[in-house]
Parts: sequence; structure tokens; C-alpha cells
Amino acid sequence: MKLSVSSFNKYQTCPRLYWLEKVEGWVDTTAKPWLAFGSNFGEIMAIADIHGVDEAERNIDAMIEDPFKAAEANYLLRKWELKYKSSPEPLADIGGVSGIEYELELDLSHLVNDRFELIFTGFIDKVFEKEGELRINERKTTSDVINLKSAYWNRLNFDPQIVGYCWALGETISTPVSRVTYEVFRKPNKAVDAKLFTHGTDALEYREKLLNSLSVRVARDAEMVMRKPVYVTEDLKHDFLNDFLKVANDIHDAKVLSRDSDQPELEWIRRPNACEMYRGCVYKPFCGRKTSLESTDYIVQVPKDNTYD
Ligand code: SF4
Repeated sequence: MKLSVSSFNKYQTCPRLYWLEKVEGWVDTTAKPWLAFGSNFGEIMAIADIHGVDEAERNIDAMIEDPFKAAEANYLLRKWELKYKSSPEPLADIGGVSGIEYELELDLSHLVNDRFELIFTGFIDKVFEKEGELRINERKTTSDVINLKSAYWNRLNFDPQIVGYCWALGETISTPVSRVTYEVFRKPNKAVDAKLFTHGTDALEYREKLLNSLSVRVARDAEMVMRKPVYVTEDLKHDFLNDFLKVANDIHDAKVLSRDSDQPELEWIRRPNACEMYRGCVYKPFCGRKTSLESTDYIVQVPKDNTYD
């Protein structure tokens, strides 16, 4: 069984959610523009890391269709350059592999006494080298206030995904990895600066306005790009590994991988207090009810291989 850190998180949120998506292969196909911007912007930043900011800027319009969003991505890219050009985080070379979108794959079968095959998988956005050691850069986009005193950062403390990546990267290179930089971009909207982020109907004019404002000082709660370093202790890594192995054992022992478990009466697999999390679980109208997923057109089933990651 392959188990990624994101699947591990999903199982911990709700085993049934994990089962529906990772085993059965159901996918919610409704458009999620708030996620699309973050993921496209992440790719633009990856180009900046590999080929430089000018090349990343040349790619923006091809990667972000909405010209107003493209203008905002351009603004964030240049804001980042302005703020952090004096403290670069050069990509690491990990045994000949670039540190951008670095793929982790570790065989942990020996940690479950070889009862079953267990492969840890994951992708790290960026691994960089500083002061002779490898460190992780984790990029995020958010609508929240991101100055260093804001409550936003509390949510990132002890993020199991990052703890897991530190642990797994350390195992891969046989040297502990403990330092992480969170690099957060705030999504422009009127709540941040009504004057700056109000656009008319001319995207070129909007882009020009944004780029002309790059060096203007902003109030603390209007910061658009922020880095925060964190240190991941060995205790946290140890706790992560214990939790990860427990989930892997649960999945294996409870036969969550079996299609037979799709019985509404199997309450153990549902976690009702997770149903309202975030924007509300998309499966709520169907969980334990008579309406079947097959009756929707926005949740579809895609063929799965048998790796369940
Ligand atoms: S609706 Fe609730 S119980 Fe059902 S999958 Fe979603 S979180 Fe789990």
C-alpha cells in the first residue's frame, strides 16, 4: 500500500472520506477557483526558482486565464522578488535530483513487521540549501492576514505534512532535516486594500497600477508576502511516525481497502464531526442516506489502480 501524507491527513479527518476518494476513486469536479489560483501560482513560483523571475513573469498569462488574476499574480511575484532578493534560497541538489517538487518514496514495510507493503509517498514544493544543510520551503496562498503577529501562523504550527516531509527527507539523505520556511502569499482582494485591488474593466491598466505600487509601504495587516522559519523537533517527527504507522495499520486491519465496507450502518468509518469542516464535506448529502453518489453529475468516479495512496 502506498500512503501519502495527504491521504494520511484525509484518513485522520474522516476514514470514510479517505475510503470514498482514495479507494473508490470518487472526485468532486465542481470548479474551485480559490484552489486553482494557488496551484497555478505555485507553478509560476517554481519557474521563478528554476529559471528566474523574468522567465516566470513571461509565463503568467499562459498559466492564468483571467487577466485580472494574472495581473495579481504578477504583482505577488514581483513583490516577493523585491522583499526577498537579498535572502535567496537556492535549490538543493539531492543526489543529482533538483530540489523543486522533490518526490519522496520510502519503503516502511519493515516498520509494520513486513505484515504488508507500506510505501510512504509525498512531494515537497522546494528543498533549498543554506549554511551547508538542506531545508524545506513550503509555499501557501491564503486570504487571511499574514503579518507575523496574526493568528494565521498558529494553524501551521506542527502541521503533520511538514513534520512528515522533514522526517522522510532526513531518512532519505541520512541526515536530519529540521528547518522549514513557510512562504505565504496573501490573495489580493478588496479587503486587503480597497483602493489598490479594485479593478475597472481594463486588465492592462490594473496590472500597471499594481506594478507601480510595488515599493509603496503597506500597513502591517496588508502584508502580501511573508516568510516564517520554523524548527521541527525530533519529538514531533517521532510522534508523526507513530501516528502515520497507526493509520497505516488501521487501514490495513480494518480492511478499509475493501469495497464491502460501503455500508451505511458501519458507523465506525464515519466521522460526523468532520462533516462541517472547511466549506462542508461534499459527500454530506449522501453519507448514510438513501441518495446515492451515482445520482449526481458533479461527483464522478475515476478508475483507480490498486495502490490507494
Ligand atoms: S460527510 Fe462526514 S462522514 Fe461523510 S465522508 Fe464527509 S466527513 Fe466523512
